[in-house]
Amino acid sequence: MKELRHKIQFVFFVAIIALVYGFKFNVEAYCPFGAVETFYTFIAQGKMLCALGSGNIFAFILIILLTILFRRFFCGYICPIGAVSEFLRTFADDFNFKQLRIPQKTDRWLSVIKYLVLILVLYLTAVTVNLFCRNISPCYLMASINNDIKFSTYVVGVIVLVASFLISMPFCRWFCPFAAVQNIFSKLGLTWITRDTTSCINCGKCSVHCPMNIDVASKKAVYSANCISCFECVDVCPVSKDTKQKPLKWKFLGRFNIANTKAVIVTIILFCVITTAAASLLIDFPTFAYVRDITKPDTLEKIELKVKGISCSGSAKLFTYFLDRKDISEIEGYLKVTTRPRSGWIDVALLYDPLKTDEQAIIEAITEAYYDEAEQRWRPSPFEIKGVDLLGP
Ligand code: SF4
Ligand code: SF4
Repeated sequence: MKELRHKIQFVFFVAIIALVYGFKFNVEAYCPFGAVETFYTFIAQGKMLCALGSGNIFAFILIILLTILFRRFFCGYICPIGAVSEFLRTFADDFNFKQLRIPQKTDRWLSVIKYLVLILVLYLTAVTVNLFCRNISPCYLMASINNDIKFSTYVVGVIVLVASFLISMPFCRWFCPFAAVQNIFSKLGLTWITRDTTSCINCGKCSVHCPMNIDVASKKAVYSANCISCFECVDVCPVSKDTKQKPLKWKFLGRFNIANTKAVIVTIILFCVITTAAASLLIDFPTFAYVRDITKPDTLEKIELKVKGISCSGSAKLFTYFLDRKDISEIEGYLKVTTRPRSGWIDVALLYDPLKTDEQAIIEAITEAYYDEAEQRWRPSPFEIKGVDLLGP
């Protein structure tokens, strides 16, 4: 099982690196923790934080369902930081380096840190309306397409690397804010490892090999939220001479044996990948929304445009300056704009009062140069609208 798991982790890791560095693909838009980070702005302002999208929400929903079924499966098979931690654990093993074992009581106290990190990240994200996690996330360090990595992120990255060589999966056990979210649902886990105490010979191997430092040998069943369903405990557990079976078993609701574990795992992973990709291609949420501070008109109409030049939240903000302009091209009745900044042509939706303005005036406001009073200079429009010839007839 260990071999298959490491292969799956390796495939995910290589796929992420290839997508980011080979194709400049924004994998951040599929990070399940992104959905947690953007939860406040999504509920309060009806938009997602920049760089995120529907992929984050679908990945989050699937991972949570997965966690309710199989505990922290995501950490043990899919997460790239989990993979790096595992590779370093294996590396330490190859060098005959005995990783430090932390006493259970200390481990439990250290586990609390991840909940504090989660609260801090959510608070600072809500206050700054920015992905604060980027300042400390080793995942962002590994798989970002932007050139904005902070010194603090490098520091955390190096600490995680060194610590993961010395101790088994310290980031996943103690610091990861997404592990804190998963633990809430993992507690409800419908499958768990059971130990047949009559055939167990108390060799203790299961506890020693558990990467999450769970003392399996002292339990009748592993209900721990930290279990990543890696089955290393089951792998090392010796077959009982009497029953001809291993005392440790993976069971649904602790009663029903799950046969053919490998096939189950591979099916789950394929299902997750295909469903997330398909759902995020079919449904997209706006990541930028701006509502003008005017009284809501009685009648509203919507114009949908394909616009080029809104690649990030900065250029989206500039887009609203053009709409808010105070010159000859001013549009009085425009109320709200929603879009999803990224490079290339993107969809932009505008709500406006048809009694005060019309589609032509909106198009003009977006494409005409305007005089920036603050900077005392003309600003040519960096935006193009599909189907609109700027030179005119
Ligand atoms: S209890 Fe077993 S399956 Fe769970 S994390 Fe530990 S070794 Fe893996
Ligand atoms: S590895 Fe198996 S036999 Fe050994 S203590 Fe754990 S459950 Fe018992």
